[in-house]
Amino acid sequence: MSQKIVLVTGGARGIGLGIVHAFAAAGHKVMIADLGNQADWNYNLASSDDMKNAVTKESAVGEVEACEVDVTRYESCVQAVATTVAHFGGLDVLVNNAGVVGSGPISEFEEAEWDKIFSVNTKGIFLMAKAALDALKASGDGAIVNTASIAGKQGSPNMSAYCGSKFAAIGITQSLAVELAPFNITVNALCPGIVGTAMWLEHLLPSNTTDHDEKNRDFEKAVNGMIPLGRPQTTDDMGQAALYLATARNVTGIALTVAGGMTMS
Ligand code: NAD
Repeated sequence: MSQKIVLVTGGARGIGLGIVHAFAAAGHKVMIADLGNQADWNYNLASSDDMKNAVTKESAVGEVEACEVDVTRYESCVQAVATTVAHFGGLDVLVNNAGVVGSGPISEFEEAEWDKIFSVNTKGIFLMAKAALDALKASGDGAIVNTASIAGKQGSPNMSAYCGSKFAAIGITQSLAVELAPFNITVNALCPGIVGTAMWLEHLLPSNTTDHDEKNRDFEKAVNGMIPLGRPQTTDDMGQAALYLATARNVTGIALTVAGGMTMS
């Protein structure tokens, strides 16, 4: 496999960092692109310390660098792509992994929260893909991987904004797969099941403890029984799947579920 230049949004922690790790360990060059500030949301998003720690950790594995991006702003997306091309000499793989979650009954759900979820999870894919298009065309062997979700295949109560944003991510994936095929750019979606990241531990998990180990135990207790293979998914599971989707040259337009058998579509 030839060495790829990869940009991973939301790459400073969680699933994004698992994807960064998989590509770096396979010998590819990776730009970690993330917010780098404590953005205003209902749980903390990646800080500049998270970004520094990610670079330190993954530099021991392979060639990585970091830059700030806010995927909801087009100029910022253009800048992140330009930084990647300037630093590594091109771009072959764009992983649109940045995402936020919010949940609650529709009657109480704030319009601003709805807009933010769609702005990051859905419009962010459009803005990053548009910003990266010329570089991916120049690659001649490009790939886009969009982190969608099993929530993009099945609705759940109190999750209409998040599910809607992830269904949309799969629709965008399918459309771009056909549109960009003439440029030999594949476009696929990764649909994680349940991974114990900030989304679960700081927001979705009904746990009152602030003790991290206890929270993790609560998480495993809450989700293990839901998953036929008997455990939640890991960030490494997601890295492995993203690496496959980005490098399988005759696979495009699919939405690959990695959920231990919890969802089978
Ligand atoms: P996470 O909160 O640890 O990671 C999300 C990352 O996105 C953070 O680093 C955050 O700083 C970044 N981000 C948020 N807004 C951004 C913006 N405007 N610009 C740039 N970066 C931004 O949670 P995670 O679980 O690792 O989430 C990664 C992706 O996986 C998301 O798209 C999420 O929807 C998806 N997902 C997660 C799960 C799960 O169980 N954790 C399941 C299915 C899908």
